[in-house]
Amino acid sequence: MAGQETDKVIVIGGGVIGIACAHYLNQAGYAVTVLESGSLAAACSHGNCGYICPSHVLPLTTPGALREGLKSLLNPSASFRIKPRLEPAFIRWLWQFSRRCSARQMLETAKHLNAILESSAAEYRRLLTGEIDGAEYRQSGLLYVFGTAEAAEVFSANERAVSARHGVRSDWIEGADLRDFDGALKPDLAGGVLFPDDASLRPDQLTAQWAALLKGRGVTFREGVRFENVERSGRMISAIKTSAGAMQADHYVLAAGAISGRLAGYFGRAMPIEPGKGYSITLDRPKQTPRVPMLFPEHHVGITPFDSGFRIGSMMEFAGFDSAIPQRRLQQLRRSVAHYLVDDLPKNNIEEWYGWRPMTWDSLPIIGAMPDTDNVCLATGHNMLGMTLAPATGKLVAEHIQGQIAHIDPTPFSPARFN
Ligand SMILES: Cc1cc2nc3c(=O)[nH]c(=O)nc-3n(C[C@H](O)[C@H](O)[C@H](O)COP(=O)(O)OP(=O)(O)OC[C@H]3O[C@@H](n4cnc5c(N)ncnc54)[C@H](O)[C@@H]3O)c2cc1C
Repeated sequence: MAGQETDKVIVIGGGVIGIACAHYLNQAGYAVTVLESGSLAAACSHGNCGYICPSHVLPLTTPGALREGLKSLLNPSASFRIKPRLEPAFIRWLWQFSRRCSARQMLETAKHLNAILESSAAEYRRLLTGEIDGAEYRQSGLLYVFGTAEAAEVFSANERAVSARHGVRSDWIEGADLRDFDGALKPDLAGGVLFPDDASLRPDQLTAQWAALLKGRGVTFREGVRFENVERSGRMISAIKTSAGAMQADHYVLAAGAISGRLAGYFGRAMPIEPGKGYSITLDRPKQTPRVPMLFPEHHVGITPFDSGFRIGSMMEFAGFDSAIPQRRLQQLRRSVAHYLVDDLPKNNIEEWYGWRPMTWDSLPIIGAMPDTDNVCLATGHNMLGMTLAPATGKLVAEHIQGQIAHIDPTPFSPARFN
């Protein structure tokens, strides 16, 4: 159905994905209300690393992921950790995840990710150099740094090779040249791979600026309003029940991050999404702050220099909806980074944070029509890439609701793949 000025859309969830959906729906002429049970963008979209990384075509489902996950059963300090749980939905999720950890599936998934990553990065370049100001957006590239030549070789043979197949540019920097590239790095590191087309931003500033822009354009944001249930009439949702009473719209978009898998059940069918918990700490800038964002694959940790601070983020724990922030995990972040940077880190953590990434077992987001329901669109399951994939997701959702031909093939992201 083509969008009409009077058509109303309710977006459930005010993270970066809900905000991006609101943007493109507002642009298409819909009257948009975003419902957020807490504060806008205070969940997984808040304290993440802020990489806008079209280079990340490699999914989590690699041939080595399963082995790493199994080893982690015995090691609570592992960065990638599966905590055993006897929940049927989680066991099914793990089973499907394990089936995807093959070279063939990895390459297939990389192809689909590449299309949506490219689209999203291009949209960000347009949005952040024209419409949205003040998100500390830098197109400085993302540097992978290696302590040993062996790790660099393994990375080049796997991640770098797969991204190169999709035309992702990367440059090798010799260990001896690393300090010329960035003087904040220690001497004697083996080398680095720079992905020059990646960028970074400060996630909380992006979402605050983006929501402010949309409020000015007439989008309504209702914080502290929780979606609770639906009223159905045949193939349509006629109203939703919320903590602020019943609400009606012509279309509903579910963009509630990691909890969306369960909430989708109210709209017709639960979706296989598990929370993949990660942590970050935000500090003042060290005296010698790195110029560019960096990842240290041997320690599974990333850093993002902001004008207004410095962030270290990492870990992937499958432990259910656990909200603890163990100090040992935060210390682990600090210790990991100390291997690479010349300067000592500032002693105080300005912010200690965790987020539940919305993880699907096939590493692909879930975007499109809820099966058997005519006026519900899902926009969730963005795994480790929700910041990056937000604009393309919003665009796909608006195209779907308008009944337009999508700008990229939406089939790989369809909720119907879980039928
Ligand atoms: C350590 C870490 C680092 C990361 N780094 C990056 C990165 O560098 N680049 C990148 O692209 N991605 C990164 N990610 C992933 C990214 O943060 C997520 O994919 C993304 O934030 C998901 O956005 P979302 O809007 O779907 O979910 P959320 O931000 O979680 O938003 C969902 C919202 O829905 C609301 N909600 C839930 N239930 C209800 C309800 N019943 N009614 C109303 N509202 C509800 C929640 O309160 C929440 O605000 C990282 C994640 C982590 C944990």
